[in-house]
Amino acid sequence: MTDKNSYDILIKNGTIIDGTGNPGFRADILVIGEQIILIKDVDPHSITAKTTIDATNMVVTPGFIDNHAHGNPLNTPEFKNFSAMGVTTIFLGQDGVSSENISDWMNDVDAVELAINIGTYVGHGSIRNQAGVKLDPKPSYGDRSKMARLVDEALEAGCFGLSTGLEYQPGSFSELNELIAIAKPVGKRDGVISSHTRNEDDEAVQNSIAELIEQGEGGNCAVNISHLKVVYGQGVPRAEEILQQMKDARQQGVSITADMYPYQASYTGIGIVFPEWAKPPYKYEEVVRTQRDELASFLKKRIQMRNGPEATLFGTAPWAGKTLKQVATELAKSFEDVLIDDIGPKGASGAYFVMDQELQDRLFLDPYIMAGSDGSPSMRHPRGYGSFAKVIRYYVKEKKLLKLEQAIYKMSGLPAKTVGLVKQNRGLLKEGFFADILVFDPDQIKDVATFENPHELASGFDWVIVNGKIVRSEGEFTGQRPGKMLRKR
Ligand SMILES: [Zn+2]
Repeated sequence: MTDKNSYDILIKNGTIIDGTGNPGFRADILVIGEQIILIKDVDPHSITAKTTIDATNMVVTPGFIDNHAHGNPLNTPEFKNFSAMGVTTIFLGQDGVSSENISDWMNDVDAVELAINIGTYVGHGSIRNQAGVKLDPKPSYGDRSKMARLVDEALEAGCFGLSTGLEYQPGSFSELNELIAIAKPVGKRDGVISSHTRNEDDEAVQNSIAELIEQGEGGNCAVNISHLKVVYGQGVPRAEEILQQMKDARQQGVSITADMYPYQASYTGIGIVFPEWAKPPYKYEEVVRTQRDELASFLKKRIQMRNGPEATLFGTAPWAGKTLKQVATELAKSFEDVLIDDIGPKGASGAYFVMDQELQDRLFLDPYIMAGSDGSPSMRHPRGYGSFAKVIRYYVKEKKLLKLEQAIYKMSGLPAKTVGLVKQNRGLLKEGFFADILVFDPDQIKDVATFENPHELASGFDWVIVNGKIVRSEGEFTGQRPGKMLRKR
């Protein structure tokens, strides 16, 4: 162990793509313990290594960082869906939802044997509940101060930032003064706000982004748009308007980025199509009784704007795998009646085919936009199993819209910089950095998951190394669990 020429891992003959976006170069990598010790040409006769990985005709990249993921590490600490697509670190606590006692939760996660690294945001909705504000649309100055203090404590405990879910209750009840109050502790501690913005529909998305920019400006902190999309928007020029808005904000001094998954369908609760006036504090049964016609015409119009009932694919029992149109045919009634009587605003989750490929592709090419799966091991959407593989297969190999180096940057260096992980020596291949490393042949990368079979592991990531330990070896899981609960320092 103390022999200066003995190493744990030698990765030889690969092309190093270091995660900065710079061109790949030929070099070997030496690892001792959790750390990358050397990146240079090594004479294999001059050293000994416990494991030697021959990376001839392969690339060596940082492990991918998923800045927007879902799942419960206490239930699925292996997270094979993520590591099989090259992800070695995920960020949870998204869309305004985290554990209400985040410090205890992090300790609980420490106690399980993780296969990948976990970081977390603290959720605004959870903070609202914890502070007793809940669905109050006008929290007092004292309430806002209390929420800000809870955010500050969560960052002190190691959260990397604050997430908001302004399209969901209770976040939907908040106004700008509250958003700025809770942004200030994030700015003070150099964290980031990741936001599921208030409304992603075409006519509202830019106002929603403007609100996030104002929050960042007011709190003097970096902001990130979660799963950027323009629901039922169309075309490249529309994407360019959004990108221009983000660029203008950066020129005004607000650091703004976004994450995206490479699919044209979103996935969330069916409540997304119901009006606010059919949700708490209003009683749904009473709304159905007194405003049925109004509700039916709202749902009909909204579903039609969202590409019709064939574009809503249920992901939960008893209708999993069927579209709203199929269910309506089966039950021999209109789709709006199905929504009102058989499902209701809390009765299902589903995938919604509401995005335009040209628009979304143009957004993704922007250098301030990173990959993020928004997926989980259990969600019936291929993004939780395929996103990072699909970026390589689709954008790099098939469409040739990105160079491999640019794609790797979007999946490692950019998310690492955004959440502050580069400061903790993660997210790049550099001497002294943690050995979160992938070795693969880009031509072999395949996202296997589909909407019909969403839980198929990606293939092609032959070697996946987390904290210097091999989690996947020649495409097979080794059973090693070297992951860590990461904390902001
Ligand atoms: Zn979201």
